Amino acid sequence: MKCVICGIEADFIEERIDLGWTPYFYEAQIEHGPACPECSEVLLEMDSFGEMGLKERYRRKINYKETFVDKASMKGIFIQIAIQRTMQSILN
Ligand SMILES: [Zn+2]
Repeated sequence: MKCVICGIEADFIEERIDLGWTPYFYEAQIEHGPACPECSEVLLEMDSFGEMGLKERYRRKINYKETFVDKASMKGIFIQIAIQRTMQSILN
């Protein structure tokens, strides 16, 4: 998977989280993602519901590289990594 905005790729899902990738964000109630740290920084902001969303002035201007289809499994992966880290810190 790669950034849906600029198309940059990262090798590992875990690496993406560490480097500040945004797993998903909204544009007009439609979910997109993931977005790389650079795009997140410039184009995204936290909305009033606590979700990442595209900044007002960029709406309808992004030509997405990929359509975000598998939201459930993506969230599952992030949760799984969080659990693994918790387990590791307990064991260490
Ligand atoms: Zn990007």
